[in-house]
Amino acid sequence: MPADSSLQTAAPTRLPARRDDLLGVEPYGAPQIDVPHPLNVNENPFGPSAALAADLARAVQQAAAGLNRYPDREFTALRADLASYLAEESGIPAPPVEAVWAANGSNEVMHQLLLAYGGPGRTALGFTPHYSMYPEYARDTFTRWVTVPRGAAPEFALTPEQVTAAIAEHEPDIVVLTSPNNPTGTALDPAVIRAAAEALAPRAGMLVVDEAYGEFRREGVPSALELLSETPHLVVTRTMSKAFALAGGRIGYLVADPGIVDGLRVVRLPYHLSAVTQAVARTALAHRGELLAQVAVLRAERDALVAWLAARGHVVAPSDANFVYFQPLDGADRHRTWQGLLDRGVLIREVGEAPWMRVSVGTPDDNAAFRSALEEVDPR
Ligand SMILES: *Cc1c(COP(=O)(O)O)cnc(C)c1O
Repeated sequence: MPADSSLQTAAPTRLPARRDDLLGVEPYGAPQIDVPHPLNVNENPFGPSAALAADLARAVQQAAAGLNRYPDREFTALRADLASYLAEESGIPAPPVEAVWAANGSNEVMHQLLLAYGGPGRTALGFTPHYSMYPEYARDTFTRWVTVPRGAAPEFALTPEQVTAAIAEHEPDIVVLTSPNNPTGTALDPAVIRAAAEALAPRAGMLVVDEAYGEFRREGVPSALELLSETPHLVVTRTMSKAFALAGGRIGYLVADPGIVDGLRVVRLPYHLSAVTQAVARTALAHRGELLAQVAVLRAERDALVAWLAARGHVVAPSDANFVYFQPLDGADRHRTWQGLLDRGVLIREVGEAPWMRVSVGTPDDNAAFRSALEEVDPR
């Protein structure tokens, strides 16, 4: 700054203080390390095919010609595409456009839910171990976040009785159930979801079922989407980040009663879904045949990885997701295991209670690299 600047002040500059409750808080940060086998954030390892990449480029080019204008604030065409996709995927009748909502990742969808339906004096309830971001949405929106532990490892199950008792004790305004759960990979018995819905109904509470990994569930595991028609206070959230291999596109969505969606239209920032985002999402949905075929490959790789870990003697949780939650062999230190894998080019995640670790399902090549690295680092 020039010495004679008229903006210069006599006192040394002090930065504005953060909100008290944010002092010393670190931002969300799974390491983004450049390694040959990144298996730490549950991404889909398959990049778009050449045909899909070309279609995406064409769609973005078309959107580019109109970028001087604000995008469709209600993203109606995208909501209609999402509605027909959901009907196809779960066998439910296509929900009306007004029952579907989307935002920049299901993180933003959930944030908007807590903005509109949480808030000071309100409580949200979750079950541990859970996705690390839930308490942050609550903190941002001044919602009280309370937790109850899930059942014993390695199933980490919940029973209808546990959920009903937790709701009676904490009297939450919002309950978040994650199925399949992150970080455990385990899906909930639909009876648990029904019990939560029943316990919340008399107090007009909201039940959010986070199905970020819904498409990866095993044969015969139902989706909470099937309960929507009989449960007006149920919200089911999904994302294009995992099954649709679109983590970089930032598109998450939900289905709920149109009356609930109306509350989200109040708190969303104007034009929150860019024209580019809408075009990218619609193009990926049009290629769903190809993308969901890759989900089938990942589910088979996942089942094989669970079986392989169990055969080696690892404690491993059953998985309905695109990752596997497991422990190193008896007595092994999880951080040493994590570091040994990283030294061999395989990045996984230390998450939840030690010694549990989570590995995302990668390409067959990634998974082979993980298996041979683990054999070296954690020998039998
Ligand atoms: C990955 C994930 C999400 C979604 O993330 P977005 O990329 O924001 O859509 C939501 N919930 C859980 C439990 C997740 O693991």
